Amino acid sequence: MAHYKAYTNCTLCPRKCGINRYEKTGFCLMGALPEVNLYMLHHGEEPPISGLLGTEDKRGSGTVFFEGCSLKCIFCQNSKISQGPTGKGERADAERLADIYLELQDKGAYNINLVTPMHFAPVVADSIKAAKRGGLTIPVAVNTGGYEEVSSLKLLEGLVDIYMPDFKVWDSKISGQILHAPDYADKAVSALREMFRQTGPVDIDPDTGLMRKGMIVRHLMLPGKLFDTKKIIDFLTGEFGNDIFISLMSQYTPMPHLTSDAPDFLKRTVPPGHYDSASDYLIDKGQTNAFVQDSSSQGDLLIPAFKD
Ligand code: SF4
Repeated sequence: MAHYKAYTNCTLCPRKCGINRYEKTGFCLMGALPEVNLYMLHHGEEPPISGLLGTEDKRGSGTVFFEGCSLKCIFCQNSKISQGPTGKGERADAERLADIYLELQDKGAYNINLVTPMHFAPVVADSIKAAKRGGLTIPVAVNTGGYEEVSSLKLLEGLVDIYMPDFKVWDSKISGQILHAPDYADKAVSALREMFRQTGPVDIDPDTGLMRKGMIVRHLMLPGKLFDTKKIIDFLTGEFGNDIFISLMSQYTPMPHLTSDAPDFLKRTVPPGHYDSASDYLIDKGQTNAFVQDSSSQGDLLIPAFKD
């Protein structure tokens, strides 16, 4: 693998560990070489990414799941692969990642969808460049937790067409308690502004309904935190409005790894009435570029079968 200076004093994410990832690991527990847990044609994203429901064409999004994460959400829905290396993933340098993207394109993927890749940003940037040299033509999407450094996002400028960040929590007390990141909202606001600067407003192919450029911001509602959801909606609609998609998700599921000292609100699901209120609030704000779910979509059916 090429030598990446950014890894020698790692400040790729807001944790700013300042360690040499060729020698040790920091908060994300990941070394320098990306580890891919799984790659597949995936149908669980929003329709402009995974394909339109009800059509014959069901090829899906070419999704690559990276191991590790710079957040450690105590309620993580992908905890099998986010808490550090599983030992079951494939170590992949930029050239191998490029081959994976091209393989997914050959299988008919509508796009390449990189899930939680930012702690490997320098290698990922090189991998996209290599894939484009090798014939990658479909859009590249980056799917993140929203807790990113603007300087790392700039490494991907001109390479990423679509960003799909989460905006998890607004209140710093809650984000400190459940994400171990009291500065989450401040960092997410800056990161989303940078992502939007790079992609511009949403651009949908009128023939296929698939997204060519733009941003989809996901918010997974947390039980009993409707007021926090509304603050996030206020920011997103006030700042970006219908230039982005907002995806409001109801499927929060208390995971088995939740410890007994986790706050009680995380041990429940989202009341359907709260989800309906949030959906109405979003619509009242004039947001028509929005995805809302049936409030019965709670459960773990949308979580892929990761190797662990
Ligand atoms: S990417 Fe990992 S090692 Fe680097 S600053 Fe973030 S948590 Fe620390």
